[in-house]
Amino acid sequence: MPKILDGAAIAAAIKQEVAEEVKSLALKGIRPGLAAVLVGHTPASEIYVRSKVQTCADLGLFSELITPPDTVTTEEMLDLVAALNHRDDIDGILIQLPLPKQVDVKALLDAVAPDKDVDGFHPVNAGRLQAGRPALAPCTPAGVIEILKRSGIPIAGRHAVVVGRSDIVGKPVAMLLLHQNATVTICHSKTRDLAAVTREADILVAAIGRPGYITPEMVKPGATIIDVGINRLNTREEFDRFFKGNVRREAAFAKRGSTIVGDVDPRAFELAGAYTPVPGGVGPLTIAMLMANTVSAAKMRRGL
Ligand code: NDP
Repeated sequence: MPKILDGAAIAAAIKQEVAEEVKSLALKGIRPGLAAVLVGHTPASEIYVRSKVQTCADLGLFSELITPPDTVTTEEMLDLVAALNHRDDIDGILIQLPLPKQVDVKALLDAVAPDKDVDGFHPVNAGRLQAGRPALAPCTPAGVIEILKRSGIPIAGRHAVVVGRSDIVGKPVAMLLLHQNATVTICHSKTRDLAAVTREADILVAAIGRPGYITPEMVKPGATIIDVGINRLNTREEFDRFFKGNVRREAAFAKRGSTIVGDVDPRAFELAGAYTPVPGGVGPLTIAMLMANTVSAAKMRRGL
């Protein structure tokens, strides 16, 4: 039976450690603070940001939710970021994506002070990560490494294959795996014979954005599969493709009218030595690592 890597339990342990660190910083008169900027009313973004703000409260961090209207301009957003960069009570700045079309996302992310860039998206942090210097690493990739380490899965010397090369997930996760001494292969949409490459993976990381794209024949038996994907299935046809006859999923689908699947076909998990389920695998780590990054940013900014 493959081992299920319980992301929710690992995230809870990390949050507990963050809460303890927040308590010890309080003794020094420091309260790490996160500014969360949520533009407009995208329902998924609202849910994510509210849960980030709530987690700050749960762990004792200061947080401020800033909600510009969806008509906001790039200039107004740049002014807002400049003000947050200067505030001493703010250690981390989170700009929830996606942003409305009229806002220049790159200009905005580049305007966040690198030492407050708790999402790890700034080119300075990407460069520091590549150079192996202390950096705020992107939260989801950092979470992937935490899952592997805390589950006792060896990384050094293993062949890690990352499918996906985005700046947010694929590239940083590959870099972090390299720093852990894995032999890393990065695949993307132009990779020839993807299955032949993924079948070589001891650790297979799927960050593609395509429901169930990694099928059983693409997996080496016994491999560790990390499924970063989050894809919503809204139709009965899509549901049946992956979950036909799955009683628990059926009940959830009937209740909500949708369910989520990762970038790995759930049938491929049966071949794995260990895998992260969707939901409950990588997802919960993202917020936990955001909290950890905010505390790290607070400490680094004060030279601690
Ligand atoms: P992007 O769309 O930015 O990147 C997708 C990557 O997958 C690209 O590099 C693309 O290649 C590659 N790709 C697409 N199709 C194929 C294919 N047929 N074969 C091989 N490679 C392919 O997505 P993200 O990196 O932002 O996100 C990836 C997934 O992770 C999504 O499902 C997203 O929802 C999820 N996610 C989950 C998070 C979490 O908290 N768990 C956080 C962030 C993302 P190319 O570069 O050639 O186009």
